[in-house]
Amino acid sequence: MKTLITNAYVLDMVGDTANIGKKDILINNNVIEKIDKDIDKKIEVETKINAKNMLIMPGIVNTHTHLAMSIFRGYKTDKKLMDWLENAIFPVEEKLKPEDIYWNSYLSCLEMIKSGTTTCNDMYFGMNKTVEAIEDTGLRAIVAWCIKDDSIKDKVEKTREYAEIYNNNKKSKIKIYVSADSPHTCNPDTIKLCVDLAKELNTGLHIHLSETIDEEIKIKSRYKKRSTEYLNDLNVFDVPVVLANGIYVSDTDIELLKSIKGGISHNPISNCKLSSGICDVVKLRENGINVGLGTDGIGSTTTMDMFEEMKTAAYLQKVSTMKPSSILAYDILKMATIEGAKVLGLENEIGTLEPGKKADMIFIKTDKLHMCPPNDVCENIVYSSNGADVDSVMIDGKLIMQNRKMINLDEKHVMRQVKKIAKKLL
Ligand SMILES: [Zn+2]
Repeated sequence: MKTLITNAYVLDMVGDTANIGKKDILINNNVIEKIDKDIDKKIEVETKINAKNMLIMPGIVNTHTHLAMSIFRGYKTDKKLMDWLENAIFPVEEKLKPEDIYWNSYLSCLEMIKSGTTTCNDMYFGMNKTVEAIEDTGLRAIVAWCIKDDSIKDKVEKTREYAEIYNNNKKSKIKIYVSADSPHTCNPDTIKLCVDLAKELNTGLHIHLSETIDEEIKIKSRYKKRSTEYLNDLNVFDVPVVLANGIYVSDTDIELLKSIKGGISHNPISNCKLSSGICDVVKLRENGINVGLGTDGIGSTTTMDMFEEMKTAAYLQKVSTMKPSSILAYDILKMATIEGAKVLGLENEIGTLEPGKKADMIFIKTDKLHMCPPNDVCENIVYSSNGADVDSVMIDGKLIMQNRKMINLDEKHVMRQVKKIAKKLL
């Protein structure tokens, strides 16, 4: 099936500077076949889309999520991470039924699509229901069962079972990673087990790293080393990794991180809301380390809108370096697209708009007051627009949202379900 998109301004995210031009896009099934100034309009296609007044860019990549945590939006907040987890979140999580995980995840998926995210990287427990929600909503995703010292066996089994199904299926939009929760909840034996499992399944590992200073202090007193050294000594960096947060990394840690495959997921709003600290994105990127953007779970980030994360990431670097040019709008857009794809090892499939890549793209409506005049399109996207400006979303060549209407997905129904769950558990 072929689709021809005409009259769009395309921001392809290829190269080190913004490349924007009025172009047509020809899609063959789920793959971009051609992007050109004037594709023959008489070409035979099944679908034609007129993208007048739209900017088309690659779908946004959210590199760290806990989709099932949507139920915790605004719940017992204004706490530090461990206080919040232990006294607000963990007691409720114990009561979550598989059906609850499905609807909570479904809500996060819809919220992501509505704000332009086409790929996410999720870790949690009870992931089989999250996988169902991801499949039912049409997102592209990497998913992992979060392994900790106190819950190993069933998660290892599920990881193996699902990796067998999904990682061997080239048509699948879902890929299975291994997940160890964090250095402070995984002892050396658990970490080693996760690394061995990732090697056995030929996949990557998703783990939280150095999110708070308290975790660093704990690891130092337990093992007499820093979290990054702890992971390095256990050969974690032999496999591709997604390291969520990476706030307290020293210069010697950065030396160790320079050679990793994958990268760091920066979650600026969650880090602000929990008063965790500021990741030195500028220094990490200067050292050649891939840094993608993430939301983390809704409880600590409040929305899945990656446009908010883009702005916050930029502001944090500008104020922490006291240098407005420390990070540019185009750098931030790269982090939200191609660099995020590199963090997830998906850079050959997504992250830019080029022939041969998967047709994951978003249509941003630009004829709006808050984007006028278009002096600098990248500045407008990062600082002036928001997720509600995303008009249409295509994933794997298929329109999931058009003119802000979800196609075949019922927003009202999922809201009713999640409200019911919140009423029961909170
Ligand atoms: Zn997290």
